[in-house]
Amino acid sequence: RSWQGKDLAGIRLDLRDRFLAAGIEDAESDVRFLLDHVLKPTPLAIALSDPARVSWQMIAELADLAARRLEREPLSHILGDKPFWTLDLKVTHDVLTPRADTETLVATVLDQIAERNAALEIADFGTGSGAILLALLSELPNATGTGIDISESALAIAAENAARNCLADRAAFRVGDWAAGTPDASFDVAVSNPPYIVSDVIDTLQPEVREFEPRQALDGGADGLDIYRILLPELHRVLKPRGLMAVEIGYDQADSVTALARAAGFPDAQLARDLAGQPRIVFSTRPDR
Ligand code: GLN
Repeated sequence: RSWQGKDLAGIRLDLRDRFLAAGIEDAESDVRFLLDHVLKPTPLAIALSDPARVSWQMIAELADLAARRLEREPLSHILGDKPFWTLDLKVTHDVLTPRADTETLVATVLDQIAERNAALEIADFGTGSGAILLALLSELPNATGTGIDISESALAIAAENAARNCLADRAAFRVGDWAAGTPDASFDVAVSNPPYIVSDVIDTLQPEVREFEPRQALDGGADGLDIYRILLPELHRVLKPRGLMAVEIGYDQADSVTALARAAGFPDAQLARDLAGQPRIVFSTRPDR
């Protein structure tokens, strides 16, 4: 193999060049993550200065993982986890990998909650890995939550993530088709990051997304808004009066989703922006009538 005679620093450079040539966006940092993964718990700096710490098994594992990444398998699937908020979440091809943008949804909800110690009941529709629900529960010590998803394999991951983050006693998960079967006026907070990509756009996305992530978690139909049409009236129905709803949106959906939210009974629907300054969240309280 081409790594014959190369030390770890040389292997690192070779991988970076091959990742770049394969069109991988964050080549440098992906290589670093893979190195840290195979070397753990030895810090890279120590491995570089003390080659005796690096076994041939580690190099063989690195070669296997790098080959998967060169096929454009997402880094999160290769490592098996992804940090989100303050949590460490298990991730597989059965769930959408939590995005940093979605932390804006968590921050927006927390920002709107006046009493963090209240015994709130939270619902997360299309919970996937459980990321949003678990992040909220981690910040709201007396809240309980239900994560709902159509995918049983996603729910299994979400339940593992609840246990892994010591939140299992306050988190329940169940199969559901959005809010079908959820009782009226039963939640204080209802959140969702629904699929919102225009169907025809999915095949133009990067291979990591279009070939490896669940299409069910991405596909928002012909105009990307199908799920909001179903979900926003349902969020209104399942929220208690003065309950809070917040949904993630695509970068160009601020006007359309705000209009749908107003039509669904949230006349005060507002926008929150992500760290890049894009409108990312539509949120509102259910009017008290
Ligand atoms: N933000 C995701 C992406 O761009 C899409 C998530 C979604 O459809 N809810 O890949």
